[in-house]
Amino acid sequence: MTKRALITGITGQDGSYLAEFLLDQGYEVIGLMRRSATSNLERIAHIQERITLVSGDIGDQVSLMNVLRDYHPHEVYHLAAQTFVGASWSQAALTGETTALGVTRMLDSIRLIDPEIRFYQASSSEMFGRVRTVPQNEDTAFYPRSPYGVAKVYGHWITVNYRESHGIHASSGILFNHESPRRGLEFVTRKVTNAVARIKLGQQQELRIGSLEPKRDWGFAGDYVKAMWSMVQQESPGDFVIATGQTHSVRELCEYAFKLVDLNYEDHVVTDPAFIRPAEVDLLVGDASKANEVLGWKPSVSFHELIEMMVMADLKAIAAQGS
Ligand code: NAP
Repeated sequence: MTKRALITGITGQDGSYLAEFLLDQGYEVIGLMRRSATSNLERIAHIQERITLVSGDIGDQVSLMNVLRDYHPHEVYHLAAQTFVGASWSQAALTGETTALGVTRMLDSIRLIDPEIRFYQASSSEMFGRVRTVPQNEDTAFYPRSPYGVAKVYGHWITVNYRESHGIHASSGILFNHESPRRGLEFVTRKVTNAVARIKLGQQQELRIGSLEPKRDWGFAGDYVKAMWSMVQQESPGDFVIATGQTHSVRELCEYAFKLVDLNYEDHVVTDPAFIRPAEVDLLVGDASKANEVLGWKPSVSFHELIEMMVMADLKAIAAQGS
C-alpha cells in the first residue's frame, strides 16, 4: 500500500526537504499551501510534478478538514507557522493564531475526520529560551523569550494533550536550529552567507546585524526531516530533541563564513541596534541522546560543512543572476 502524507508548510525550507525525502521513501505527497498573489514555489519547483498541491490555510479549520476528508493521508507533518522570531514581537497575535492555534485546528481536524492519522508537530528549541539547564533535553523546563517561543510552547503541549486525551499518535519534535541553502533570507545564517557572497562579488559593502554573542546549535535541515519521519514511524508517539550537541556564536558564524572567501568579517560586519531583539536567547545547545537511542538518528553535516555549503550555494546563485 502506498502511504500518503500531508505536509503543511510545504513551500518552506523543511517542507521542501521533507517532501523530497518522503517521495524517495515511495510516499504520495500532498502539500497544503495558502493562496498567494505571487508564486512561492521556488523551493519545490524541482518536485512539483511529483506532488499534489492543495489550497488551505492553518487559520481556516474548514480548509484543513476538507483536505483530510478529500485526500485521506496516513500521516500529517504540521510545519506551517509564522516562523520568524524577530517578526513575532510586531505580529504577536498573528503568531499566536498560526503558530499556536494552527496546531489545535489541525489536531481537531484529525480528531473529527480520522483519529488514526499520525501527526508530527514542529516544536522548537526556542521553547527553552532562558535555558534552565545546559544542554537541553526532553525534560528541560521551558522558558520562552519571544511570542514565537510562547506560541511553540502552546503547540507542544496541545500535541501532548491530544495524545493523552484522544489517543492520537501525535509526536513533537523539539528541533534546534537547522539551516540550508533554502533557509529564508531573514534568518541569521542565510543573512550572513548571502551577504558574504554579495560582498565577495562586489554587490554589497557591509552586513548590518544585531548581537554577535548569541550561541546556537545549528544543523542541516536535510538531516532533521529524517528525524521527523522516524518519530512518526515509532509504535508509540513521543517527544524528541533533535540537535547536533555543538554550539557556535553568531560571531563564529560570521568569522568562518567570511574566511571561506578570504575576507575578514571585522571589515564588513556592523552591529546595528535596529536588529537587537527585545529579549534575546543567549545560548542553545541540545542533547539528542534519546533520538539517537530510540530513532537511531544522528546528524551527518557539521557546522563548518553546513556554512560552507550555504556560502557556496549563495555564491553560485548570485553569480548566475549577474551573468
Ligand atoms: P519556513 O521556511 O518559514 O516555512 C514556513 C511555512 O509555513 C511556509 O510554507 C509558509 O507558507 C507556511 N505558512 C505560514 N503561515 C501559513 C498559514 N497561515 N497557512 C498555511 N501555511 C502557512 O519554516 P521552516 O524553517 O521550514 O520551519 C518549518 C517548521 O519547523 C515551522 O513550524 C518552524 O517554526 C519549525 N521549526 C523550524 C526550525 C528551523 O531551524 N528551521 C527549528 C525548530 C522548529 P508561505 O510560503 O506561503 O509563507
